[in-house]
Amino acid sequence: MNIKDNILKLLNKVDDVCNEVGVKSESIKIIAVTKNVGIEKIMQAVSCNLRDLGENRVQEFLNKYQTLDNKDVKWHLIGHLQTNKVKYVVGRICLIQSVDSIKLANEINKKAKELGVIQDILIELKTSYEETKFGVDVNHIDEFLNQVADLKNIRIKGLMTIAPKVNFEDEARPYFEIAYNQFEKLKNVRQDNMEIQYLSMGMSGDFKAAIKEGSNMIRIGTAIFGERK
Ligand SMILES: *Cc1c(COP(=O)(O)O)cnc(C)c1O
Repeated sequence: MNIKDNILKLLNKVDDVCNEVGVKSESIKIIAVTKNVGIEKIMQAVSCNLRDLGENRVQEFLNKYQTLDNKDVKWHLIGHLQTNKVKYVVGRICLIQSVDSIKLANEINKKAKELGVIQDILIELKTSYEETKFGVDVNHIDEFLNQVADLKNIRIKGLMTIAPKVNFEDEARPYFEIAYNQFEKLKNVRQDNMEIQYLSMGMSGDFKAAIKEGSNMIRIGTAIFGERK
């Protein structure tokens, strides 16, 4: 298993599907998901120019944050975040992708205000009921936006979603389509703390389907680093 080869293969597949749907492959941001991956392998991915790294556990992120030279990389938090761990990630994580409650948004805002920073976040959208118990229900998005409208130290950059596991990749497309429709709607909402840019969806098993449905940020672990132990 060679990380450089894996990345080249991945980039080729992304190119192919982008050509197929008529979008520029440069418009798709790839997040290298480094959970359970050691520093050496992460460095290999970074040296292949993958500089956006995704972690889903705070403690694991902190260990790596202390070890890696962070001026070279941008960290994304993609896993569920408990409010009591917010203090460890605000200002260190460039994009908190998994904001799934008003309480969490409030806590992030509070910490960001203390530090005098604006924290970029994505709202995690629940597009299915099988895969995850986390995420804001599609029907509650408007209410969510209203409730966080006055939080000046967060900036909502878009949406993240996780599709359920399916047997055939294209079966994930309806879930991605739901997220895309919400993403398009959000672009028309005028709110000071919103700057809609990213639709984060697609993992190793379903990124092609996600790109076909309008994703511009894919989160890839296995296809880069191999199967996790
Ligand atoms: C682990 C993980 C990924 C990457 O999954 P792979 O199938 O290994 O590409 C993407 N997004 C989230 C939220 C994850 O937890």
